Amino acid sequence: MSRLVSRSAWGARAPRSRTSTTWAARSGFTVHYSAGPPTQTPRQIQNFHMDGQGWADVGYNFLVDRQGNVYEGRGWLAVGAHAAPHNTSHIGVCFIGRDGDATPAAKAAIRGLYDEANRRAGKTLSRSWHGGLSGNSTSCPGADLRSWVRAGMPVPGSGGDASQTSPPPSAPAFPGPILIQPPVRHTETCRRWQQRMRERGWRITVDGWYGPASARVCRQFQTEKGFSVDGRVGPQTWAGAWTAPVT
Ligand SMILES: [Zn+2]
Repeated sequence: MSRLVSRSAWGARAPRSRTSTTWAARSGFTVHYSAGPPTQTPRQIQNFHMDGQGWADVGYNFLVDRQGNVYEGRGWLAVGAHAAPHNTSHIGVCFIGRDGDATPAAKAAIRGLYDEANRRAGKTLSRSWHGGLSGNSTSCPGADLRSWVRAGMPVPGSGGDASQTSPPPSAPAFPGPILIQPPVRHTETCRRWQQRMRERGWRITVDGWYGPASARVCRQFQTEKGFSVDGRVGPQTWAGAWTAPVT
């Protein structure tokens, strides 16, 4: 996926409230545009949605700019405010700009989000544009993005095969030894695993020491992924840190 700018990185305000849905309930992916200047920032859009519309947060799950930067809005599984009554089932992605402003980089970023959503959902979500959803009569996302979604969201230069999906993720080979404690040991394997878990969003110290705190993260991860829960990082738990969807 392209560059993801986290909420903290773009200075998002905290949501007033948040409702979550599940991947099982997700069935579609909807493209929007902001219909404003491409120089608008996610924060300006969030301010408008929270102060002007009175919504709990920026309405979209993600936003994409002309450079192909992806900004985290409500994220993958929060119910959005972008296309009622489809907010629970559909992920809403907004291109920041007007009709005709969307660049190849922006389209590639939106397509990347769609592929990633399918990977996380473990199924193919329907592609849609705002005005194409039932109960939504709007020109959003403009003629250019509408025809692009209709054409299967082809990425320029990729041959335009809409059915292609991202290659399955792969993990580096498990270097051993199996991480187990006590006693607390320091290994390069542990440091790499801690680093990877931290990249996935876990609160973990990256110091190479496999102690009780690391083992606790390991057990939580194993529980979440349905692995056998033994608090040891062996080949399966190691590989899962790279290949299991981040939830
Ligand atoms: Zn829209």
